Amino acid sequence: MANALNRVVVRAPGKINLSLAVGAVDDRGYHSLATVFQAVDVYETVTATQQDELTLSVDSDVPGEVPLDGSNLALRAAELLRSERGVTAGAALHVHKQVPVAGGMGGGSADAAAVLVALDRLWGLELPAEELRELGSRLGADVPFAMLGHTALGRGTGADLTTALTHGEWTWLLAFPGGHLSTPAVYRRHDEIARSVGRVLPEHPEIEELQFQALSSGDAPLLGRTLHNDLQSAAFALHDGLEPVVEHAQRAGAYGAMVSGSGPTVAVLVEDREHAQEIGEELRAARLVDSYLVARGSAAGASVLDAG
Ligand code: ATP
Repeated sequence: MANALNRVVVRAPGKINLSLAVGAVDDRGYHSLATVFQAVDVYETVTATQQDELTLSVDSDVPGEVPLDGSNLALRAAELLRSERGVTAGAALHVHKQVPVAGGMGGGSADAAAVLVALDRLWGLELPAEELRELGSRLGADVPFAMLGHTALGRGTGADLTTALTHGEWTWLLAFPGGHLSTPAVYRRHDEIARSVGRVLPEHPEIEELQFQALSSGDAPLLGRTLHNDLQSAAFALHDGLEPVVEHAQRAGAYGAMVSGSGPTVAVLVEDREHAQEIGEELRAARLVDSYLVARGSAAGASVLDAG
């Protein structure tokens, strides 16, 4: 095991879900999922420095509580890599957060992805990318995608990813209506709704196919029409500030708008930055959102920015 580096800096992107199909629950209580992820240029940056102990510090450009104990995904990723590879070294991990906390944009997962990539380098492990992604999938279904980046269809536990061919860039208004949505509560409500309409395993490969077509031809209006989230009805039911945001964006001429993942972030696909800014300001003036940001996809997955 080579051990030459003192410090490694890695950044990993947040994501949105262009489509999310939620299926049945397995023995372990996990839902089967099929989702088209897109990484956006909003990043978490992890700096890993050699030291004997494993420690974590966090600074953040975004509001929200982030645990600093062993429940933090960054530390869990480090512990997993240590125990899997029999590493005795430690590291000082510092996370700089820019992805909104608990917004359904996978910030914690991006931290875990960045830590796995950073420590693989710092500790001289040189694991193949697939192995790192498999380890990541044990921490959460969004982790392998944060390593891969760009746009991809994900199935199962998250390590099964198929990259989509994309043409051009996509401009997103990410609107934050305030308030919180618990991911497990959204899934529970989704199950109640699905049971009440007798739907067990909704699969919609036709949506994924249309999205791949829109992505490869750079057809933003088509992509906008195909944005789909099985959890949206549940999110609307639990947070009454979401539907007005989606409706406003649609009336304002966006290509499409929907709740991203388990919310409460609303992702709005627009023509360009100016249009995003315009709709964002309207939403803020109408007090429908606390804040918003304008982002571009697709972004690269976890990448080493500096090592030395
Ligand atoms: P998910 O949809 O996977 O639940 P999210 O993308 O909505 O997550 P995150 O910011 O990743 O939101 O984190 C959700 C929760 O996970 C936080 O409220 C926090 O309590 C916990 N958490 C654990 N580790 C982290 C981390 N490194 N960064 C942010 N939150 C973390």
